Amino acid sequence: MNTQTAHPALSDVTAAFERVYPPAWAASWDAVGLVAGDPVQPVARILFAVDPVDAVVDEALTWGADLIITHHPLMLRGVTSVAANTPKGRIVHRLIRSGTALYTAHTNADTAAPGVSDALARAVGLTGPLRPLDPDTTDPEGRRGIGRIGALERPTLLREFAQQVASALPATAAGIRVAGDPDRLVTSVAVSGGAGDSLLGAARAAGVDVFVTSDLRHHPASEFMGNPGGPALVDTAHFASEWPWLADGARHLTEELGSTSGPDGANVEIRVSTTVTDAWSQAVPNL
Ligand SMILES: [Zn+2]
Repeated sequence: MNTQTAHPALSDVTAAFERVYPPAWAASWDAVGLVAGDPVQPVARILFAVDPVDAVVDEALTWGADLIITHHPLMLRGVTSVAANTPKGRIVHRLIRSGTALYTAHTNADTAAPGVSDALARAVGLTGPLRPLDPDTTDPEGRRGIGRIGALERPTLLREFAQQVASALPATAAGIRVAGDPDRLVTSVAVSGGAGDSLLGAARAAGVDVFVTSDLRHHPASEFMGNPGGPALVDTAHFASEWPWLADGARHLTEELGSTSGPDGANVEIRVSTTVTDAWSQAVPNL
């Protein structure tokens, strides 16, 4: 007798995932949820990735994934064409032709507790309790929000902490950039996966020793460092700062699916993509 449970339907998978990352938690400007796929189709293999780009679709098709769950949306603004001779339309065609569904959890995964920045915080060595850097005011428990604040186990030189961040995250050509005295001791840390310019003020107000984020621009960073007394800055590749969440999302989905499908768990395989999809593919040091 075959005791293997049937593969769950796509709608069962997305419902399980949405119990962990409710779409209602997404920012009003965001576009999350199911992008492509038929809710009744069975799902045997799920690939988690940061970006819905060709390299990830290649990986999904090679492995035979039925569903790709990405952090970044494929289409954030209104479109009037998904013709295959447009970059995003080409992705849509590849997904539909291969019967591969695409689902996005973006700012709802950022704000969730645990969310994207919890995974980043743990990856770079923060231990103990974490609290939001920019709390979601609609959460009565105050656990949800963007970014996290926590502490390292012991005071660490900024140069050593930067190395720790670099070692903890997937290797990218852009590497890690640091602003601040490399011999400064840091203990309290704020992190925010993805672009963190808008949280520089919150990081200073939090009184932390160092702020880890991505995509910091020259003028905001320069002005921030020109105002003494604030945290040092560690700037990582955008892809790298959000990648640690993929394993978290995969684990939560496994647990949620398992809790609804009996003692053997759901009959799905889940894989975390290791394809580096950072926009920057080469860096040339000119020191
Ligand atoms: Zn991002």
